[in-house]
Amino acid sequence: MSVMNKSDNSVRQDIFRGVQRNVPLAMYTRLQLGGLAEFFAEPESESDLIALLKQSQIGKIPVHILGAGSNLLVSEKGIGGLTVRFSNPAFCGITIEGQRVTAGAGAKLGQVITQSVSQGLGGIEDLIGIPGNMGGSLLGNAGTNSGDLGQWVESVRVAGINGEISVLSKNEISFGYRSSSLDDAVILSATLRLEKDNPAELAKRMQKLWIVRKTQQPSGERASVYVFKNPATGASAGELVEQAGLKGTRIGGAVVSEHNANFIMVEPEGTAEDVLRLIRFVREQVEIITEIKLELSLEIW
Ligand SMILES: Cc1cc2nc3c(=O)[nH]c(=O)nc-3n(C[C@H](O)[C@H](O)[C@H](O)COP(=O)(O)OP(=O)(O)OC[C@H]3O[C@@H](n4cnc5c(N)ncnc54)[C@H](O)[C@@H]3O)c2cc1C
Repeated sequence: MSVMNKSDNSVRQDIFRGVQRNVPLAMYTRLQLGGLAEFFAEPESESDLIALLKQSQIGKIPVHILGAGSNLLVSEKGIGGLTVRFSNPAFCGITIEGQRVTAGAGAKLGQVITQSVSQGLGGIEDLIGIPGNMGGSLLGNAGTNSGDLGQWVESVRVAGINGEISVLSKNEISFGYRSSSLDDAVILSATLRLEKDNPAELAKRMQKLWIVRKTQQPSGERASVYVFKNPATGASAGELVEQAGLKGTRIGGAVVSEHNANFIMVEPEGTAEDVLRLIRFVREQVEIITEIKLELSLEIW
């Protein structure tokens, strides 16, 4: 009997035989919140991944890719379909040849930066201190006021949702402010072309930038996330939240940071629902007071 003739439930069970089910996603996200992934896989190779993508397509099962979970809020209800996490070393390698740095989707952005700097390759050191993996950071074109990851990209290796692998060159991808055209792709790895520089000078610069960044982010025990994109002109999102008098505002266990109002911190008893309610409240208040509608940077599953 063809798989497509079976009941939906049995199709789902057959397709992902051997794949973990009902896996709590909280442990894989920065906020340590959220419900279960219906199916959860950490593929060991590209061929494993391709098989999963093909199976998902056959079963019309949605696929979600988890990075380091630094920019994600997973609802308490959890998420249906297949969640894929690139934790296996097959997806986390970093290789450097000449001015080219190739990093797997699961490689930590911080490690890509420090390894590049130690080899005297500069450009991305400005991004030091931004939490995330290469895949998530490319998708959202992570950056600062002085530049972003996308500007250093030479090519990106991706898998389509049907499992077909292709290599996109720089001119086939567009990067915008905290966005890219890679939305529909599964990012497998990326090659950056960086600039030759003095390793000692670069390391000094990176350390200084790291110290500055630490002062801009909330510190302490509580988990925090960066919530809104900065509007195209004028005040930053954090300044607008502050202008609206919302620093320190609390709903349940979620609090707007006193340190930088574009961060929400979560106390141990906080829930994803608290964070969602606080985000809604802050957006409404900022719009009422400043007439600016803030756009979310944080992704909600
Ligand atoms: C304290 C703090 C400071 C921050 N500062 C900055 C900052 O200065 N600048 C900035 O730009 N951001 C900042 N962020 C946001 C965050 O760090 C970045 O967005 C980060 O790049 C997200 O990477 P991630 O691996 O954690 O992605 P995740 O949060 O896991 O995922 C984000 C998105 O990427 C997708 N994704 C992940 N991997 C892949 C893949 N391989 N293929 C396809 N899609 C994928 C996910 O499906 C999701 O849609 C900050 C966050 C925090 C908590």
